[in-house]
Amino acid sequence: MSENTLTSKTVPTIVQCPTCKKEVEWSEKSPHRPFCSERCKLIDFGDWADESNRIAGNPTYDDVMGEDLEY
Ligand SMILES: [Zn+2]
Repeated sequence: MSENTLTSKTVPTIVQCPTCKKEVEWSEKSPHRPFCSERCKLIDFGDWADESNRIAGNPTYDDVMGEDLEY
């Protein structure tokens, strides 16, 4: 049987990558969501991390990778 037997209609949530504006499917297919790729994630992340790092000089940011958006 096909996957259609589970739910009659499955509409994936689409978000835009904040870095390059590419459409990203909000699912397990996109582990870097809302970014389209790890590269875009690092670009955006590096943007502010660089700044706050310079200002605060704070080496503790172990919490940034936390993912709590599980279905
Ligand atoms: Zn991107």
